[in-house]
Amino acid sequence: MPLPRTRGKALRQRLAELRGPDVPPKALDARALAALAANPGCQRRAILDGAGVNKAVLASALGSPSAFGQSQFAFTRGNAFEAKVKRDGGAELLRLVHEKLDRHAEPPAEAQVPDLLATGPEGRAARTALALREATAAPGTWTLLDHPMLALDVAGSPAFLEPDAVVVHPDGSWTVVEIKSFPMLDGAADPAKVGAAARQAAVYVLALEEVAARLDPAPRVRHRILLVCPKDFSNVPTASAVDVRKQRAVTGRQLARLTRIEDIADMLPEGTCFSPELPAAELTSAVESVPATYAPECLSACELAFHCRDRSRAAGAVTTLGRSVRAELGGLSTVEDVLAAARGESGDPEDPAVAALRRAARLRAQALGQEVTPCR
Ligand code: SF4
Repeated sequence: MPLPRTRGKALRQRLAELRGPDVPPKALDARALAALAANPGCQRRAILDGAGVNKAVLASALGSPSAFGQSQFAFTRGNAFEAKVKRDGGAELLRLVHEKLDRHAEPPAEAQVPDLLATGPEGRAARTALALREATAAPGTWTLLDHPMLALDVAGSPAFLEPDAVVVHPDGSWTVVEIKSFPMLDGAADPAKVGAAARQAAVYVLALEEVAARLDPAPRVRHRILLVCPKDFSNVPTASAVDVRKQRAVTGRQLARLTRIEDIADMLPEGTCFSPELPAAELTSAVESVPATYAPECLSACELAFHCRDRSRAAGAVTTLGRSVRAELGGLSTVEDVLAAARGESGDPEDPAVAALRRAARLRAQALGQEVTPCR
């Protein structure tokens, strides 16, 4: 739900102060929004993204530069593959959409590819909305929107998003298409990469649903998207339908939470600022004033991962061992607590995690021929 105008303005002002004087906001893209959903409990990431802080620059200023970014070679290869998939008016791409998602429709012999050129992101988003409306009003035709521009309300201001393609089916429904350069081997791709692509596509689905909601009747935005990748080790396109309902629900919840980043902002000490111009010590204490929930997954999703991992390790937090280990350990949140519980020095023996740790410690001691400490 959009914020009331004055409240939204006050929040924007507050977020600008957090970013620092004269620091331009970094636009949120679908990848960043999708990464938010990968760690939904992290307030640190939520406020930094909501304030438009450039986390890569911030990580460097903190002395823990991120290892993010695509190599120039991978970038060029990805662009060449996408151009191949879309050549001849998107004939191959539309064939794949028909084959994987809409076999009962007429094959896409003739398709519309509207011109989406306009000035600025707002202009392009308006042009895309018009093209979608016109395509939906022309039943029985296939329409390919190449690099449309979508706007999604995030924390009271629009984030502009550019999917690889959106296809309007003959029945007027809309499908998001994601084109990736990682290979699909024997019909399956790396699950981690497919998961990231699904989260990204879910953001586009949410943005498309906002466009659809303004039409009457609202067209159906499909929740199965098309993921197009190179087949095996070739450059031949192949595709798979990916159900993004779960990712859409998680990301939708996260975005709703992002619009309440004012709650996180209100908890911060007066004068908190994340400007990279600040001395490292001051910047570190500003970043540390926001609670974080580090997990190893952050390494592939967030620019601050090295900083948060170092802090988490220094604090002996068990989150550095992964979410599943963290969940198994119940209320034991530090390595020190875990070891003390295993040695029988602390912890409730009725607690299943403590009991399991003591059993494991006894077995270890027996295996090593050490003296077994009786449980207390
Ligand atoms: S790296 Fe840090 S800021 Fe980023 S999501 Fe993980 S815990 Fe949050």
